[in-house]
Amino acid sequence: MSDSPTIYCSVVCSHCEGEGCTYCNKTGHVLVKEPACRCKACEGAGCIYCGFTGWAGLKGKYD
Ligand SMILES: [Zn+2]
Ligand SMILES: [Zn+2]
Repeated sequence: MSDSPTIYCSVVCSHCEGEGCTYCNKTGHVLVKEPACRCKACEGAGCIYCGFTGWAGLKGKYD
């Protein structure tokens, strides 16, 4: 098997810090690619590149 599916992990949304907001669909968490890393553009503050979640590799955004 050479096929390695992308693994995602759940991280706390940096925009609302788990409270739930529109950017994380009110869940307080978002799925990002493993290994989870902060958005390099904003360093976790939230910007258009990370969908305002503060995380790089958001699931569904840049597949
Ligand atoms: Zn949120
Ligand atoms: Zn960002």
